[in-house]
Amino acid sequence: MDSGTRAFREEMNNLPPLPGTPPDMAAQPELRRDPVTAEWVILATGRGKRPHAPGPAQAVDQPDEDCPFCPGHEDRTPPEICAMRREGEGECDKPGWNVRVIPNRFPILVSGVPRAGVERTVSPDRRAAVGTSEVIVDTPVHNQAPWQVGPGQTLVMLEMYRDRINAIKEEGRASYAHIIRNYGAAAASSLEHPHSQLFGLPFIPPTIDVELDGFVFAYPGTAGCVLCDIIGETERSGDRVIMATENFLAFTPFASRLPYEGWIVPRRHSLRFEKCEELPELAELMTAVLNHYHDRLGDPPFNYWVHNYPLHGESRPYHWHIEILPRMTLAGGLELGAGVWVNTVAPEDAAAQLR
Ligand SMILES: [Zn+2]
Ligand SMILES: [Zn+2]
Ligand SMILES: [Zn+2]
Repeated sequence: MDSGTRAFREEMNNLPPLPGTPPDMAAQPELRRDPVTAEWVILATGRGKRPHAPGPAQAVDQPDEDCPFCPGHEDRTPPEICAMRREGEGECDKPGWNVRVIPNRFPILVSGVPRAGVERTVSPDRRAAVGTSEVIVDTPVHNQAPWQVGPGQTLVMLEMYRDRINAIKEEGRASYAHIIRNYGAAAASSLEHPHSQLFGLPFIPPTIDVELDGFVFAYPGTAGCVLCDIIGETERSGDRVIMATENFLAFTPFASRLPYEGWIVPRRHSLRFEKCEELPELAELMTAVLNHYHDRLGDPPFNYWVHNYPLHGESRPYHWHIEILPRMTLAGGLELGAGVWVNTVAPEDAAAQLR
């Protein structure tokens, strides 16, 4: 007997269907299972409960004279880890940068050797929070929303994502590099100035763990890729496509967890974001997609993150992607307590609106 959690879950989930008529999608809630994670989402569109943003995205109102991330205020942050500067312009911790990376002033993980005492762990479940907490200042311009940043600047930001992942990998202390962008106070952004964050985690985060498991489960012992399948199916049906370019597909996933969830996936099978050779095209597409989110949905707060292969090794199947999660409904006890998401907008309708 297979003792894996996933096998147990499959067994428990494969209950015979209840007798009665099949659900009328428009009137009754529907269960959808994500093809990668096998997690069930409740699609409840018939409740007349349309989502609305809890507030304008830019509820963080901070004048630029107080902003530690603005050019000229470099002395208000810890010394920079690195920066991209135009040829011959500016020096370290001085203006003239395009993208600037600094240690998080309030790190949740600390770099370097753990403090004496913490090192002498009494239990394998307790250790120093060693890792990296970095802030990537996306642009020198204080109040640019992500869609206003433009493809050129977005490209420089993506190149910095790539470079930092490579640097964290080389340092060799972290197992996974998680890159996020929080936009708007409701999406947990605490400073107005556009910035992303990178966490070098000393463990594989649970979400990535579940995804890695899903890739193996879909094609045990073979080289198949469930996300490559999803790209093909999504394009064939077409009703969940937001935008398609030569090398990327932007779409709403079949089992979208929240209204207007969007994924950007490279068409070419690839484990790692940092190996992506089409960053200029990705920058164009991201800018266009985020513009549509802004124009069609009225400036919702959102989070996006890069889901990537762990930093070391290459032995397992995976396919990197970016997930965008607008925050138009609030998570409650069902979501937080049971990990069950309730989505009130069908992904097919969401894509039609975002196209
Ligand atoms: Zn600023
Ligand atoms: Zn693939
Ligand atoms: Zn993912």
